[in-house]
Order: sequence, then structure tokens, then C-alpha cells
Amino acid sequence: MVTYKCFFCGKQISAKTTKGKLVCQYCGSRVFFKPRTTIKKVKAI
Ligand SMILES: [Zn+2]
Repeated sequence: MVTYKCFFCGKQISAKTTKGKLVCQYCGSRVFFKPRTTIKKVKAI
């Protein structure tokens, strides 16, 4: 299951609940980002 995070309200939206078009159920925005890929700890040594 892929979980997206709304860019505006910060709510987590699962891709399973929305078929096809991904729209935030809370604020209705269509801008999302993947928390997994965006938040990545990188060690800078
Ligand atoms: Zn939202």
C-alpha cells in the first residue's frame, strides 16, 4: 500500500482509498509527496 502525504494539510492519504485520481479527502488538493522518498536520512561523512 502506497501512502502519500498531502502537501497542504499534511494528512496521510492511502492510494487504495482513491481509485485513479488522487485527491485529498480533507482539503481537496492534488499535490502530494511521498514521505518515504522525501524523508531520507543521509550521512554526510
Ligand atoms: Zn489535504
